[in-house]
Amino acid sequence: MVQRIITKEIIAKNGKDKVKFYGFKIGQLAIKESAMHAPKPGLISTVLSFKDKTFGEWLPVWVWLIVHPEGIFLIDTGLSSEVKQAGYFKPLDFISRYYFEKQMKFEIKREEELDYMLQKIGIASNQIDKTILTHLHIDHTGGMKHLLQVPILVYEKEWKTQDGAFPKLFPQNIHIQPVKLEESFELFEHAHYLTKGKDLVMISTPGHTRGHVSIALLGNKNKIYLFGGDVTYTQNRLYDNTFSATIKDHKDNKKSCENILALAKKFNIIFLPTHDMGNIDRLKNEEEIKIDNNKE
Ligand SMILES: [Zn+2]
Repeated sequence: MVQRIITKEIIAKNGKDKVKFYGFKIGQLAIKESAMHAPKPGLISTVLSFKDKTFGEWLPVWVWLIVHPEGIFLIDTGLSSEVKQAGYFKPLDFISRYYFEKQMKFEIKREEELDYMLQKIGIASNQIDKTILTHLHIDHTGGMKHLLQVPILVYEKEWKTQDGAFPKLFPQNIHIQPVKLEESFELFEHAHYLTKGKDLVMISTPGHTRGHVSIALLGNKNKIYLFGGDVTYTQNRLYDNTFSATIKDHKDNKKSCENILALAKKFNIIFLPTHDMGNIDRLKNEEEIKIDNNKE
């Protein structure tokens, strides 16, 4: 039986409150093997990967729900099972449609979507105070249709640039709130605090898309739970400096990874990227980013 829900309780940064958070596995996807490991990401690598017949390993799609004394926050929304329906990608241009239908594989059942997951832990979608999107790719936005009453925060830059985003697939009545990252957090110069206690913060980690963000939940004892979105697909790829063909800006992506590793010198970071099955054990064992493992 595949584990689809992670439950974690931590002591808040103030040392008093408890913060509970959940991980939901909302489907999985795969891209071509050669697109998974592109020595030089970009359009040419992407097109070359079209000839590749083999798909890479299945990547889970994790979504995070944080039950914090200041509110309930959802990070990303996962896949929609509609990706499995014929014609779902029909509104898109030919190339994009071809990419999603032939160059990617998806696996998700209706009962794995966000609304079912929330039901399982007894939280109604209208209890969620804010949703924060790390970026606008379809495996992060597919559950927005279940959040029509919830403000959805997106970094203003992401909302403007929309790298690899398909607004034609977004539901009609969503409430997007573009957010400026006008504060700073440690070495990250573009950040936005989501709580008055300054223990939940959006930080700019560009590269995968130009407006990509990660979200840091600060715990006590110098701990950070870092919801990394797609800054890298897995923790191993952070250590190995491996990037997929389709990232928007390789240089920025590398810099974002360096910044995370630099932050790990000061804080005990538990890294939780969207597409890593290792998140389950990492949270269970409180396994932090090890700087020594980093091949430089
Ligand atoms: Zn992505």
